[in-house]
Amino acid sequence: MIVKTEIPRQPEPIHAPDWSAVRRDFPALAVEVYGKPLAYLDNAATAHKPQSVIDAIVRHYTESNANIHRGSHYLSQKATDEYENARKTVAQFIGASDREIIFTRGATESVNLAAATFGRRFLDTGDEIVVSEMEHHSNIVPWQMLCKEKGAKLRIIPVSDSGELITDNLEAFLGNRTKLVALTHVSNSLGTINPVREIVAAARERGIATLLDGAQAVPHLPVNIRELGCDFYAFSGHKLYAPSGIGVLFVSKRLIDELPPYQTGGGMIRRVTLERSTFDDAPGRFEAGTPNIEGAIGLAAAIEYVQFIGISHIAAREQELLGYANKKLADVPGLKIYGEATEKASVISFTLGDIHPHDVGSFLDREGVAARAGHHCNQPLWSRFGVPATTRASMAFYNTESEIDALVEGLQAAVSFFS
Ligand code: PLP
Repeated sequence: MIVKTEIPRQPEPIHAPDWSAVRRDFPALAVEVYGKPLAYLDNAATAHKPQSVIDAIVRHYTESNANIHRGSHYLSQKATDEYENARKTVAQFIGASDREIIFTRGATESVNLAAATFGRRFLDTGDEIVVSEMEHHSNIVPWQMLCKEKGAKLRIIPVSDSGELITDNLEAFLGNRTKLVALTHVSNSLGTINPVREIVAAARERGIATLLDGAQAVPHLPVNIRELGCDFYAFSGHKLYAPSGIGVLFVSKRLIDELPPYQTGGGMIRRVTLERSTFDDAPGRFEAGTPNIEGAIGLAAAIEYVQFIGISHIAAREQELLGYANKKLADVPGLKIYGEATEKASVISFTLGDIHPHDVGSFLDREGVAARAGHHCNQPLWSRFGVPATTRASMAFYNTESEIDALVEGLQAAVSFFS
């Protein structure tokens, strides 16, 4: 078994693929619901998996299942190599080095890891952490808890009516007590692509650390960590066509060795006596216990799949679908879209007259259209817009114009039915 020593960034394929052939790579898209073809428009919640990811997991269990790092036998070495190669694949995908990649359970655990370790090391009473009104609960609650524990203050960047961060007054948020700015790269409800590079640069100039929640960015846009310049970057595998239960926290090399361990126990130590313990170097120091080995292998297979298609082609195809959906949805009476940023990913949250979003979601479901209804883990955002919930359609590159037509027809039928 040869460990890949360095994986260069993969070149983008020149041509976009045949999208109808790509669709056939995802077996779950062929499922019928209530005797109707499935139109899966819930990709912001989780994405389907290509056959190559499913095969990689099956191959791991049938050919290389063993615990990693601790065994001297063949299978253990093979599984260890696969796991560490997966780390290298993730690193090259986002332009990082593998020492900066920590495997977690998902974006939520990544933010919790950052909050626990950064908070323990750097936060004092009276310090400030900045988040925004459009954050997913995963990027609010861990900071709220930390601020409460440390006597620090959470400050909130507001959102405009069009669903963009109001950054005119950014300097007021970057004071001498500000320790960290934690923002979403792409909003899971509004689709807004935030100007994170500029915000990170402004924070860095003042010596303030930054975390970006990339859960909705990495599957849909080219992401290069060095260009972004952030200290932490969090994302989940399952939204990136990989299995659930695996995620990533990138921590920049200038910070990673400064952070104390997160969870403790086996796998992350160097030496343990009954009196005290010393810890492994990063990233192993942050991965206590047996990790999600098959998840990491599945994530690497998903990244290889995305690179085979080309992330720029994915982004362009999703913009086409977004444009088509916006045009078609304009024909639905009473439909109001939340989130009209100039830079926007393929997520559309809307209300339909005074029909409850849950009723809209259930009605669409019976038409074979999988959309999400609720607060999408953005309660503060919906308070700001004065609605308790919305219906959300979120598209991936494998969706089609006819699935969007099914959504629009379903909504038109819902309008007739409920009136
Ligand atoms: N951040 C954003 C922007 C998200 O959309 C999500 C999931 O919807 C999360 C964080 C949390 O991801 P996970 O549930 O995979 O940990």
